[in-house]
Amino acid sequence: MAMAPVRDPLKTYRAKRRFATTPEPAGAAPQPAPGRGGRFVVQRHRARRLHYDFRLEVAGVLASWAVPKGPTLDPDVRRQAIHVEDHPIEYFEFEGVIPQGEYGGGDVIVWDWGHWTPAKDSDPERDLARGELHFDLEGERLRGRFVLVHTDRGSRGSGKDQWLLLHKHDEFAVKGWDPEALPQSVKSGRTNDEVAAAPESRWHSDRPVDQAEERLQGEIPTWKPPTDDELAALDSLKKAGDWELQGQVLRLTNLDKVLFPEQGGGSPVTKRDLIRYCARIGPWLLPYLWDRPVNLHRYPNGVEKPGFWHKEVPSHAPDWLTRWHNDDADPDETQWYFVADSVPALAWLANYGAIELNPWTSSVRDPRQPTWALIDVDPGPNTAWEELLVLVRLYRTALDHLGVVGAPKVTGKRGIQVWVPVATGYSFDDTRAWVETVSRAIGQTVPALVSWQWTKRDRKGLARLDYTQNAINKTLVAPFSARPAPGAPVSVPIEWDELDDPALRPDRWTVNTVFERLVASGDPLRRLIGMAQSLPRL
Ligand code: MN
Repeated sequence: MAMAPVRDPLKTYRAKRRFATTPEPAGAAPQPAPGRGGRFVVQRHRARRLHYDFRLEVAGVLASWAVPKGPTLDPDVRRQAIHVEDHPIEYFEFEGVIPQGEYGGGDVIVWDWGHWTPAKDSDPERDLARGELHFDLEGERLRGRFVLVHTDRGSRGSGKDQWLLLHKHDEFAVKGWDPEALPQSVKSGRTNDEVAAAPESRWHSDRPVDQAEERLQGEIPTWKPPTDDELAALDSLKKAGDWELQGQVLRLTNLDKVLFPEQGGGSPVTKRDLIRYCARIGPWLLPYLWDRPVNLHRYPNGVEKPGFWHKEVPSHAPDWLTRWHNDDADPDETQWYFVADSVPALAWLANYGAIELNPWTSSVRDPRQPTWALIDVDPGPNTAWEELLVLVRLYRTALDHLGVVGAPKVTGKRGIQVWVPVATGYSFDDTRAWVETVSRAIGQTVPALVSWQWTKRDRKGLARLDYTQNAINKTLVAPFSARPAPGAPVSVPIEWDELDDPALRPDRWTVNTVFERLVASGDPLRRLIGMAQSLPRL
């Protein structure tokens, strides 16, 4: 059967714009209509089961039906519609997530909206009470005459308040019309998956309606890479000199010093190369750094000499570098931390010999609340690569089973981590306990591969499932940070399915090869940044 064409007048407009990055509004919400009828909204809601919530504004509330298969313009199809409780008008524009564990936990997009008018010259409240309402919709997708008919009060039947929703044979009817063919929001242009990955809003139905909607962190800023002219200017510097990058003048030193020896026949990587890499990777790396303190692992004399941790911003650092003061610090602890929030800041840190950038798990907005739960699968000397993969796949299975989203990332050295975004409101004790519980369960399924001993010696070469980095001021290396090893490997997020790629290695990508991968595959972890995910009770 040929698919009927779907009507979506604003589709082209929306498809041409990414609302995440452009200030133009998507189709604006309908205003309350004067006179009879009112606004309607259809929200595509992925809760325990996918359904569409069909809501009509009646007498100051949203009369609501859950339509499992969604409304249709097909006049030969009747759709089951379960009458559910009225929703507050405040819910009309809601698009975002409802925390797991709360009523309706899942994700919601505004699938259609517009106006409705009762078809007969009658009182819609009375018609609804009698169980049959004929009405016209004027939405972006739904148009024409619809009928809601009450079929079963549920007192002795299914226990549900059953209605049917159907479309009449009229000029707007389309045979075979399927709402699932239009997966994008009319409000934002985003799909349920995209909203779940980076919600702008969260709804708490257990709060008073004027406090139910929690606006989440705004969009992540974007950064531009250096221009070809800027890179050429860097290459033309002698051993030292001033480099102008995006409006800042950087005083660079020891540019030809080898920081990383060559590996596998490649060239050694100099400080100039590292500075170039850090500037170019900025648009990919900065989303993980821009709003949080960063601990530096410095190797100013190259990675074959011992490195050291450095946290305090030195007095000679330029004024334009962003810093954050830790008000909880004791007098003998670090007071001022770097916040790497620009491409020039990354170049400055590279010139400073900061090879590894380790951002905090929490942001400067609330340093006591992690935004990531971190799983560190740390191989021991006797852990084979295939055994490491077994462990990481067990985490994948566990997260799938729990309905939790996370993404793996190779470390650039030997290990693999899994980063799990979490909603605000968790403490480090919460995330650490949660990761420990999951990890202990995994350890029990493969006890021969894992040790829970504290010291390396006592672990007897076995792997460690490390949950202890979930603590304030404890960190793991940032995605796309270089690692202190020959060849300048980098830590890179991957798709779960890449665990099955025979070419995968934890140090597969370097400062020279990672750009090719990013062009081809992008960054699968990025869409998880800021995701307001609740961790299920275990
Ligand atoms: Mn619902």
